Amino acid sequence: MAKDRFKREIDYLRISITDKCNLGCTYCMPHMKPKTFKTNEVLTGEEVLRIVRVARDFGVHKVRLTGGEPLLREDIIDLVRGIKAAGVPDLSLTTNGMFLGARARELKEAGLDRLNVSLDTMRPERFKKITGGGELERVTSGIDEAERAGLSPIKLNIVPIRGINDDEVVEFARMTVERPVHVRFIELMPSRRDWDDKKCVKSAEVQERIEAELGKLEKRQFKGRGPSRNFTLDGAKGIIGFISAVSHSFCYDCNRMRVTAVGKIRPCLFNKTEIDLLAPMREGASDKEIRRLFKLALDTKPEGNYLKDPKDNKSIDSMSSIGG
Ligand code: SAM
Ligand code: SF4
Repeated sequence: MAKDRFKREIDYLRISITDKCNLGCTYCMPHMKPKTFKTNEVLTGEEVLRIVRVARDFGVHKVRLTGGEPLLREDIIDLVRGIKAAGVPDLSLTTNGMFLGARARELKEAGLDRLNVSLDTMRPERFKKITGGGELERVTSGIDEAERAGLSPIKLNIVPIRGINDDEVVEFARMTVERPVHVRFIELMPSRRDWDDKKCVKSAEVQERIEAELGKLEKRQFKGRGPSRNFTLDGAKGIIGFISAVSHSFCYDCNRMRVTAVGKIRPCLFNKTEIDLLAPMREGASDKEIRRLFKLALDTKPEGNYLKDPKDNKSIDSMSSIGG
């Protein structure tokens, strides 16, 4: 098991397998159209698998594929199959769901264990606006198909934004009563230069609104670590989770590192330090050398992030290439 300088066990790797996206969510894409990388600047399938193999030997048990939009990768099914074959017990993927209907069965058959779908609203026009052209119906039928394929329980990621979609938080919570879905409210993080704290609807407020309409939320304990604080409504089939990166620090329990679409290890989402793997790999680095770079990343992982400091208003440069 790999531990960092602060004795945190790091067993979770999130890999952004593309910086490209078919959508352009208002809170994710940078203010200006982001620079997109050329195909040969992004990790190949073989490189992703090599990184996963070294990371697994380093103590990583959980891998999440993200992006950009990971289902844009033509080799996504081979990647899922290859990562499972490398002996990763817990493989998950985060998607905007637009291509899920067509891919859900193959993903399940290739060995995908879990799925998160980003879904910020259940209103078609609003969905189009938030995502820059997404079709809600395609996403919801993709989710249904994923459930039929056995990729259940699906986690739905919702970023409540004041005045945009925060009037739907109770509706989303209500969804968990009848369906075994896991609805997760993620606090809006500063990934755009015009980020405004007032737009971020904090978890405490979301919880208050849900409890006022639907009754008390019962705290639930789950095995495994992670930033989500989980609850259930009385008698509900599903779960309500809060990821409160802005209002609560969970750095003391952080178990993850990221690899960006261009092959850089990012020890902390909120810190710009990155360690390049791509150039060394392409220059013939051995697995031992890649392992040394992972160790270096572990040793540079900071103790905490700057989000608590209101004077420091740096934003995450590009959520879509780091992977959120
Ligand atoms: N394209 C995929 C999707 O949308 O699910 C995967 C990549 S996306 C960057 C991963 C997650 O990051 C999504 O659930 C998205 O809602 C979240 N995200 C992006 N920008 C965010 C922000 N500023 N604050 C909080 N979450 C954000
Ligand atoms: Fe694309 Fe996902 Fe970012 Fe939306 S949240 S722009 S779907 S990467």
